[in-house]
Amino acid sequence: MIALSLGAILTLFVCMPLLTIAWMALIYNFRSMHRPARHRENIYECEHCGHVYAFARNRPMDRCPRCSNLNEAVRP
Ligand SMILES: [Zn+2]
Repeated sequence: MIALSLGAILTLFVCMPLLTIAWMALIYNFRSMHRPARHRENIYECEHCGHVYAFARNRPMDRCPRCSNLNEAVRP
């Protein structure tokens, strides 16, 4: 049997999930970089002034550039 110290076991239990999550985040970022810009954009329609605008940020709500009203994305 392989003798491991308690510190090594704890380090493994903490590092393995962190490395897995970091690897998955890298893959997700790499995939989303290659999507066309139109698919990364959220489209918003202002409920206050009716202005239609798009932002390439991944937010469920964003401010209208005309009147600063917060609006939900029409097409995420
Ligand atoms: Zn507005």
